[in-house]
Amino acid sequence: MPDNEETSLDREKARKAAKHPKRPGEHCGAPAAKYAPVVNRNKCEGKHDCVDVCPYGVFEVRRIDDADFAQLGFLGKLKSRAHGRLTAYTPKADACKACGLCVVACPEKAITLVLQK
Ligand code: SF4
Ligand code: SF4
Repeated sequence: MPDNEETSLDREKARKAAKHPKRPGEHCGAPAAKYAPVVNRNKCEGKHDCVDVCPYGVFEVRRIDDADFAQLGFLGKLKSRAHGRLTAYTPKADACKACGLCVVACPEKAITLVLQK
């Protein structure tokens, strides 16, 4: 894993996620942007594990945009309010190399790796 001081990598959490038997993707072997992580905001509770484990600083957790909040279902809105309206965004999605760590680290199973090309 790269030693990138710009990310807030939690190495212990990342090591644990790396051992998960259902870890998807290409274990960092994919060219950047071949895959993109997609966050299901109806499930996301802003728990930050994706930020903690991504070696490439793809994620940030922040207040959900009003337009995205409006798209949530009834339960999603309740959940979002209960968690301070925090959700994960992927401002650096182009840096994703499909290590799959975020998918298995997310306690809400809110992330899917989607093949782009
Ligand atoms: S996507 Fe999952 S790991 Fe990331 S902030 Fe949301 S709940 Fe947490
Ligand atoms: S699969 Fe997830 S953790 Fe891995 S590089 Fe992509 S966004 Fe980051």
